[in-house]
Amino acid sequence: MKIRMSSPDITAAEIAAVTEVLQTPDLSQGPRVAEFERAFAASLGSAHAVAVSSGTAGLHLCVVAGGVQDGDLVVTSPFSFVASANVVLYERAVPVFVDIDPTTYNIDPTLAAQAVEDLARDRRPQRWLPPRVRGAGPSGRRRLRAILPVHTFGWPAAMPDLCDLARRFALTVIEDACEAVGAECAGRPVGRWGDAGVFAFYPNKQMTTAEGGIIVTERADWAGLLRSLRNQGRDDQETWLRHVRLGFNYRMDDLRAALGLAQLRRLPDLLARRDQVASWYGTRLRSLEGVDPPVSPARDRRTWFVYVIRLASWIDRDAVMRELHARGIPTRPYFVPIHLQPFYRERFGYGEGDFPVTEAVARSTLALPFSSTMTEPQVEAVCQTLRAVLPHAALRR
Ligand SMILES: *Cc1c(COP(=O)(O)O)cnc(C)c1O
Repeated sequence: MKIRMSSPDITAAEIAAVTEVLQTPDLSQGPRVAEFERAFAASLGSAHAVAVSSGTAGLHLCVVAGGVQDGDLVVTSPFSFVASANVVLYERAVPVFVDIDPTTYNIDPTLAAQAVEDLARDRRPQRWLPPRVRGAGPSGRRRLRAILPVHTFGWPAAMPDLCDLARRFALTVIEDACEAVGAECAGRPVGRWGDAGVFAFYPNKQMTTAEGGIIVTERADWAGLLRSLRNQGRDDQETWLRHVRLGFNYRMDDLRAALGLAQLRRLPDLLARRDQVASWYGTRLRSLEGVDPPVSPARDRRTWFVYVIRLASWIDRDAVMRELHARGIPTRPYFVPIHLQPFYRERFGYGEGDFPVTEAVARSTLALPFSSTMTEPQVEAVCQTLRAVLPHAALRR
C-alpha cells in the first residue's frame, strides 16, 4: 500500500476542462480567468477576486497595495510557511514576529495587541524588533504599517480582535488564507475580514490549480491596483505596452483557471472528504498514549489543510519521523519556525528561545499523510504503524 504525504484530487471533469482550453487560442490570461474570479468571489460573497500565479505572488501584491515600503514594520506569525514573511522582505520592510497561541497555532491576539500598542507609541520597540534591526541605523521611528495574520492549517485566526486592533491604529490587514479555503470566523469567510485575503492552490492545498492563487477584496481601489500590478503595471484598460507603474508578471493562465473552476465546483465535496479523513484519524488516535490529535475550534469553521498531531514530551519527534519513514510512511515537520530558518537567523540575528511557544509547538508536532483521496485502510495503516513505532521513539523517562 503506497501512502503519499499529500495528493491532488483530480477527476475526469478537471481533465476535460483543461483539455478544452488547449483547443482554444487563450493559453494565458483569458476568459476562464475572469470566469474563475467571478465564481470564486461569488462563493465567498466578496466584491472582487484577482487570480494570480501563486499564493506568494498574491501576498506580495497585497503588501505592495498596502503601501508597505522600505523599513516599514509588518506584524505577522513566525509559525508559518516562509512565504508569509518573505513577501514583507520583497518590499524591504521588516516582519515583526509575534508568538502564537498554543491551541490555535495562530498569532496570539493579546500579544499582537501589546506589540502594536508598543510599536505605534514607540514604547519598548526593542522588545519586538528583530535583534539585528534593534540597534541598526538611525533611531528614527519606524512606521508600523500592516498586520498579516495566517489562518494556520485552516484554523481561522482571531479576526474580530485583530481587525479591531488594526482599526484603532489605522493598519492594513492582509489575511494569509492560503491554508484555509472554506473556513469561517464568526460566521464570515476568512479572506473577507481584512483589506484583502489570499488563497493558494498548490497541489497539496484543499483545492488546486497546480500553481496558483487568488486575492479577494471588498475594495474596488485595491482590485484595480492588484490587476495592474499582476499584469506588468498596465493601465486600467490593460492596454498593450502601456505601463503606468512598476508591475510584475504574476498572471494566472486559462489552463489553471479551468482547473480551478472544476475544483471549485467540487470544493464542498473535497472539504467533506478531508473532514472524513480527519475523523478517521481522530477516532483511531484519541486512545493512543502520548499522541494528541489536532483539535478544532468550538464555534468557527475550520477546513483541513494538513493533519498535524502533537507528541508528548517523552517522545522524540524526529525519531518517530525516522521510524515511520523506514516503514514507508512519509511525514513532515509542519512548520520549522520562520525565525529559525538559516536565512532569517543570518539576516536578523534570531536564535533559539526567541519565540518559545512557536518553538515548543514546532518541536513536538508532525504532519501525517493527508488528502481527500485517502482511504480508511490507508489511515488505519498509518495509525497502526505509528502505534508500533512509538515505543522505539520514547526518550528515557
Ligand atoms: C501555501 C502557502 C502560501 C503560498 O504558497 P504558494 O506555493 O506560493 O502558492 C503562503 N502562505 C502559507 C501559510 C501557505 O501555506
